[in-house]
Amino acid sequence: MKKDILEKGAILQRDRETYAIAPHIPGGLTDSATLRKICAVADRYGLQLKLTSAQRIMLIGIREDDLDRVWSELAEKPGAAIGLCVRSVKICPGTTYCKRGVQDSISLGLKIDDKYHAMVLPNKMKMGVSGCMVSCAESALKDIGIVATAKGWRILVGGNAGARPRLADLLTDVEADEERVLEVVDRIVSWYRGCGREVRLGRLVEEMGIDAFRQQILG
Ligand code: SF4
Repeated sequence: MKKDILEKGAILQRDRETYAIAPHIPGGLTDSATLRKICAVADRYGLQLKLTSAQRIMLIGIREDDLDRVWSELAEKPGAAIGLCVRSVKICPGTTYCKRGVQDSISLGLKIDDKYHAMVLPNKMKMGVSGCMVSCAESALKDIGIVATAKGWRILVGGNAGARPRLADLLTDVEADEERVLEVVDRIVSWYRGCGREVRLGRLVEEMGIDAFRQQILG
């Protein structure tokens, strides 16, 4: 019986025959040349396209024999759409484009994406970076959620959607300093990598309580 092909980023579809793939589009920021290339490949192989919640474009309906050719013609890195790893870093437009933005979520989000996207972890991890408290990157539903405030950044932990949804807890507020945010994110990810459990981060935060978790991460 067919199943997902992790090493090709290929997700078996409902027909149990064809696959979908999703190239990595950091923060959903792309350009017309990339879109034309994706459309050309989709037309060549008769594929459907879907914009995903992870700010990617999924190409649907690929035959197993065509997977390598499709990836090669796209010439893009796979998005981490399956597997136990950092799946997606959702990034809102922030001060680059949005009139409500108070911090540069694109700058911070792309640095986080560059460092962590597809990193193998005990379970899947999603992150979101929002440029103001409106939180368009759904930061409160991410394992690590970051939200801009007038004074800096708010770091949330342990959120997730899914069958057992959970709103993230406030870990800490930090000043408007990307390096400081990256340092805290690094501490969370390092701790999670070595925690010896294979559950989502939210389960661990819930078991420990946010105060004990904060003590582990920030001392
Ligand atoms: S979270 Fe704020 S800055 Fe980001 S898109 Fe939404 S309103 Fe704009």
